[in-house]
Amino acid sequence: MAQRKDRGRHRFGPAGLAAAQQLSRAGHTVIVYERDDAVGGLLRYGIPEFKMEKSVIDRRLVQLRGEGIRFRTGVAIGAEGHLSLEDLRSRFDAVVLATGSTVPRDIGAENAKSEGVYPAMEYLVPANRESLGAERGIDAEGKHVVIVGGGDTGADCYGTAIRQGAASVTQLDIRLQPTDERPGHQPWPTYPLIHRVGDSHEEGGERVFGVNTLEVLTNDDGSTRALKIVEGERIDGRFDAYAGTEREIPADLVLIALGFTGPDSVVDPAGLLPRTKRGNFEREDDYAVPGEEGLFVAGDAGRGQSLIVWAIAEGRAAAATVDAYLTGASILPVPVKASDNPITV
Ligand SMILES: Cc1cc2nc3c(=O)[nH]c(=O)nc-3n(C[C@H](O)[C@H](O)[C@H](O)COP(=O)(O)OP(=O)(O)OC[C@H]3O[C@@H](n4cnc5c(N)ncnc54)[C@H](O)[C@@H]3O)c2cc1C
Repeated sequence: MAQRKDRGRHRFGPAGLAAAQQLSRAGHTVIVYERDDAVGGLLRYGIPEFKMEKSVIDRRLVQLRGEGIRFRTGVAIGAEGHLSLEDLRSRFDAVVLATGSTVPRDIGAENAKSEGVYPAMEYLVPANRESLGAERGIDAEGKHVVIVGGGDTGADCYGTAIRQGAASVTQLDIRLQPTDERPGHQPWPTYPLIHRVGDSHEEGGERVFGVNTLEVLTNDDGSTRALKIVEGERIDGRFDAYAGTEREIPADLVLIALGFTGPDSVVDPAGLLPRTKRGNFEREDDYAVPGEEGLFVAGDAGRGQSLIVWAIAEGRAAAATVDAYLTGASILPVPVKASDNPITV
């Protein structure tokens, strides 16, 4: 085969895997570096097995390997003793950063570092490994579990805690409970803010809306015993508490699922890459990093925590830019630009 001299390289969740597949199919040699022991990103160890079976990723990996893509797991690019981003850029013609966005947002409540309070991913990752045969990590069995954060990550913690046999599961949402119908000011094709009931919510537990967490209350030994919460509503982005509505709810295990603030700094320990105001890696509309020859950013690392479909679409689109960068032109499809969002697409 008349192999092009070009080579590409990626970090891999769905964005990286999608980019790798497209570039390989365009005739490039592609190597995937992944710091975990298996590729797949949040699909592998973030999203619970009961929501997305890992066999789906494994089936796709068979295809990717068969197409010639090579995988190097256990390599944390930028970490001490591992390859650096500079190493990659000097050895390869193009590098796609698809490192995700996994730095958790803080709860901002008093005593939040108490024993028994964990970021959601510290709970979900070992729980996912357990479903693949490992020992249980943080255990919800017999505990009063409170999840702070009303989104999908919180719902995954919810379903997992129910499966582990929690004594009670409560999910706190700072937003007031949305209506069941699409509000008039959110016409199609706007993604409507309506009350959604996930599979996990149908299995038990309780959801509490319109509350903020003030403090983590502890036992004498420092372990968590309750959360102090207050009712209210957000007005212009600020939570306005209703006077006299403070109360305690029992909590032995508190899981913080308040979203993510951007990619961590492992890949760029010196902080040389440009970041957006929201903390993500900056890129042009075609995924090229401004002022950085041969470097591209795709998926959550550039968009912020989003959805699998966006990660895949971005990976495929970034591959088209990389292909054109390496060869002068590309016939690969460009499903989305980096600045596209769900409302405009
Ligand atoms: C709990 C949870 C549940 C979710 N559920 C859904 C859902 O149901 N539906 C949906 O559409 N979306 C869901 N999402 C969002 C979705 O998982 C992400 O938007 C998507 O995985 C982003 O893909 P990505 O490839 O950009 O990043 P990631 O999936 O985060 O992958 C990044 C990869 O890069 C690796 N990496 C990072 N840094 C380095 C480094 N320095 N060196 C080497 N490798 C590195 C990571 O280990 C990881 O494998 C969920 C997210 C979470 C957290």
